[in-house]
Amino acid sequence: MITVNHLSKTYHNPDGRSLTVLKDINCTIEKGEVISIIGPSGTGKSTLLRAFNLLDPPTGGEILFDGENILAKGYPVHKLRQKMGMVFQSFNLFEHMTVLENVMYAPVKILQKSKEEAQEEAITLLRKVGLAEKADVYPSSLSGGQKQRVAIARCLAMRPQVILFDEPTSALDPTMVGEVLSVMRQLAAEGMTMLIVTHEMKFARDVSTRIFFMYDGYIHEDGTPDQIFNHPKHSATKSFVQRIRKEVFEVDGKDFDFLDMETRINRFCLKYNIAGRMEKAIELCRLVVPVYTETGDQLTVRITYSELSGETALDFMREGDNQAPSSIKDHEFRGKLLSLCKNIIEEPTTRGFRVKLLL
Ligand code: ADP
Ligand code: MG
Repeated sequence: MITVNHLSKTYHNPDGRSLTVLKDINCTIEKGEVISIIGPSGTGKSTLLRAFNLLDPPTGGEILFDGENILAKGYPVHKLRQKMGMVFQSFNLFEHMTVLENVMYAPVKILQKSKEEAQEEAITLLRKVGLAEKADVYPSSLSGGQKQRVAIARCLAMRPQVILFDEPTSALDPTMVGEVLSVMRQLAAEGMTMLIVTHEMKFARDVSTRIFFMYDGYIHEDGTPDQIFNHPKHSATKSFVQRIRKEVFEVDGKDFDFLDMETRINRFCLKYNIAGRMEKAIELCRLVVPVYTETGDQLTVRITYSELSGETALDFMREGDNQAPSSIKDHEFRGKLLSLCKNIIEEPTTRGFRVKLLL
């Protein structure tokens, strides 16, 4: 469906300096593929999607869509935009139109459909994204997740052959990520061709036929989710997909600011969409920190989250001593901890001892 040959993009900034964001992109996308584009920020993922859609024309190379070079002079941009829909992080709905009008607008204006036909189709699409009952409200009364589902319905109304998604869930409150991902899952299951820039690693692993890992202006690695996530060939891919999110607290004695720690744990859990583990994490800290700091020792507490495995853990680490405090061994105390976590792992470290609680 799409073939990209030696695509490049250089931005010439007003200060005279230039920045080559896409260096040499080569890829082929078949009909029905769901490709997730992952990689650190600033590596050109959005630039690549905008190049596909001619929102930001590349400076070199070619993009063949159904055999035609869309970068050739005179290629009709409106025809391309019809075939290739795009969903943005920021929804971009028309605020002065109702939800229904938003979805009907382009089919009437661009495809010259009758109002009746466009309305009927719009309602079917709104039903598909679970928002039929919101047809007559204005976008301002919708939640972020609902707005994004309307944006997807609006995109589908043009009957595109491929949809480009640029971080469709990054602007959403974590509680709303799931509803948008589930609409996207449904589209993938129906065979829609999709290119998705995302930070949702589990989603990318579950729905994609292929993953592009972008790094330094290239598609650094292109493979099945199994290859990219479980057997990456390149070290940059490996360190990106296996990265662990963490927040560290140095607890020094009794005057430690617990409230600040709890606030930061809260924020951490919200950020990585693990709000369900927040209360347990805080409760466990309240139980373990006093035990560890009884003798006034310095303690390092760390909350970690692996995006790929979904594993969340709390580490309590102390230097100098190669034993856990005796209370940790106490039967009743262990029982209390185990009622809040899945497992307790105790192990010596190079400089001391660590108790890891798996949430
Ligand atoms: P990603 O989506 O992977 O985070 P982007 O494609 O948005 O990365 O951006 C890649 C690089 O290109 C960044 O360094 C960014 O600052 C730069 N860039 C993006 N858009 C422009 C622009 N319009 N002018 C100049 N530089 C830009
Ligand atoms: Mg981006």
